[in-house]
Amino acid sequence: MYDVNNIFAKIIRKEIPSTIVYEDEKILFFHDITPQAKVHILVIPKIPVKDLTDFLNQADEIAVKYFFDKINEVVKEIGLTKTGFRLVTNNGLDANQEVPHFHMHILGGENLNSIR
Ligand code: 5GP
Repeated sequence: MYDVNNIFAKIIRKEIPSTIVYEDEKILFFHDITPQAKVHILVIPKIPVKDLTDFLNQADEIAVKYFFDKINEVVKEIGLTKTGFRLVTNNGLDANQEVPHFHMHILGGENLNSIR
């Protein structure tokens, strides 16, 4: 069951501020409030899905492709493709997913060797 009052749902509705990197009607990129690397951006689809499993089960192929294509565009735009980046998602309890709205972390801007 999706919690409509999770933090990222509130960020989408602009009830909580965020530092936006890119936004359109389908997707939102914003800076993580506690960055784990020089660049730490979160990317979320604007549909109510709680994790990756839910996203892949609910979203159609076009929406899934749009999500990853837009990540590809944004990482290029902000210069991460030159030096590399990490794209990670925590899915559910054992991954200690904190916010129950599907999101991916984009980490980069420095060598990520010491960052889990
Ligand atoms: P998770 O553990 O669910 O994969 O990651 C949740 C991420 O959301 C964490 O990296 C955390 O710092 C970030 N976060 C939690 N609350 C907020 C918030 O209110 N604003 C922003 N920008 N990031 C948040």
